[in-house]
Amino acid sequence: MIIFKKEDDLRAYLLKIKEKGANIGFVPTMGALHNGHVSLLQQSRKNGDFTVVSIFVNPTQFNDKQDFEKYPVTIHEDELMLIDAGCDVLFLPSVDEVYPETAEKTTTYEFGYLDTVLEGAHRPGHFKGVGQVVARLLSIVEPDTLYLGQKDYQQCMVIKDLIGQMSGMEGLSLEICPIKREADGLAMSSRNKRLTDPQRNVAGLLYQCLVSIRTQIGEKKFSIVQKECLDILSDKGFEPEYVALADATDLTLLDEYDTTRSMVALIAAKIGDIRLIDNMLLQ
Ligand code: AMP
Repeated sequence: MIIFKKEDDLRAYLLKIKEKGANIGFVPTMGALHNGHVSLLQQSRKNGDFTVVSIFVNPTQFNDKQDFEKYPVTIHEDELMLIDAGCDVLFLPSVDEVYPETAEKTTTYEFGYLDTVLEGAHRPGHFKGVGQVVARLLSIVEPDTLYLGQKDYQQCMVIKDLIGQMSGMEGLSLEICPIKREADGLAMSSRNKRLTDPQRNVAGLLYQCLVSIRTQIGEKKFSIVQKECLDILSDKGFEPEYVALADATDLTLLDEYDTTRSMVALIAAKIGDIRLIDNMLLQ
């Protein structure tokens, strides 16, 4: 695995790789890697792509300063994990490299409705920061395929929208990979590293709520199941932010189950100062 810290060096190297006819697969991450991240890299390798992983904890997408400061950083372990998983290139830029003084390199994108609901509503400015960093990284790596995790469902929709807005990204395909979970159903997340034992013991509840939303279709009204989920989360020490049902294609919020649509259930809840999110498609 070759590690690049500078945009120009990475560009020059990837140009040579592209000239040889290889397809570039790109997995952007914020590090503190786990098997969810590795599954994206494995998918890229399975597709035969030359795989570039980036690790960059993007300051502009953190609406909560403390969350940014406490975000786990485990670069050495990350590098070992990537070598083990067969990563070709790791891009490890500094903040100055991603956001240089020259303003034309940083563009701001708007995401309309997507930025007003759920994560957009609870984390003002978050998707603006996500758009900014992903646009910048895509313009550096210029991949053939971008690999994202369904774990961040709304983010996938935002990035799909972003790709449509960017010029020069017409040939880019987006591959969304399934959510990797721990044995109790907890979606793998870098933030899980910060959970205390008692918090970790109840963290699987988010997944259980999603399962109960899915299994009670046609049995109970969603509004009842939603209230049960909110109550049990609060009882177990969570501060739930939302338990929501939405159209899976455009994230229109639904008050009740509508089996004529493809639906997704989405949850966000805090335990202590750790914010967890999860979702499940309800086909
Ligand atoms: P992050 O480092 O949290 O920004 O995540 C980098 C990428 O990994 C994003 O596309 C995430 O959606 C994806 N990802 C994070 N957690 C998981 C998971 N449990 N399963 C699959 N993909 C994930």
